[in-house]
Amino acid sequence: MLSSKETIRAIEVMSQKFPDARTSLEADTDFHFLLAVILSAQTTDKAVNLLTPRLFVRYPAPEDLAAASLEEVMPLLRSIGLYRNKSKYIIACAADIVAKFDGQVPQTRKELMQLSGVGRKTADVVLAECFNIPAIAVDTHVTRVSKRLRIVPQTADVLTIEKTLMKKLPEDLWIKAHHCMIFWGRYQCMARKPLCVECPLLLICAEGKTRVQ
Ligand code: SF4
Repeated sequence: MLSSKETIRAIEVMSQKFPDARTSLEADTDFHFLLAVILSAQTTDKAVNLLTPRLFVRYPAPEDLAAASLEEVMPLLRSIGLYRNKSKYIIACAADIVAKFDGQVPQTRKELMQLSGVGRKTADVVLAECFNIPAIAVDTHVTRVSKRLRIVPQTADVLTIEKTLMKKLPEDLWIKAHHCMIFWGRYQCMARKPLCVECPLLLICAEGKTRVQ
């Protein structure tokens, strides 16, 4: 298993390769960013960015979306997967924000997770991106990279991965680590064909060593 020191070093190497790693979701307000994160489940950020401008113009504030009908919202989301459920979630989420939080996106994980359609991962992304509150959202890339580098055991679940990363990395590195690991998973350590031969982490990567033998 990688030590805390080695994990920090691995993040530094990722950051050197991808110094501009950041979220690719586009939004103009905290509320719209939250919607974009909910919509991005099991689809690409690119697909979400293509449809959100129309959604955001139509529903500028939580009050506007809370008052919308499913029939009005669904056509706007039709180009992404699970659009029916996602339409329901974002309307209900907007209604929750209006009813429980006075129309403002809440700034704690506990409160965010009280919103419809918002799980721990979505809450962590919003905390980090909208409010600069240290958090590590664990998605498929963070999971794969953490396991291949043996930062976490192969059997670790999402919560264990999050807690282990939080333990091994200083708090001021959490947001950066999240972004770097996503870029690493997208462009260096891809699921099917990771670029191990040319990987600057090969020397400390158990998975990479078995792949290049
Ligand atoms: Fe991923 Fe291969 Fe690099 Fe390890 S050596 S981090 S498996 S690309």
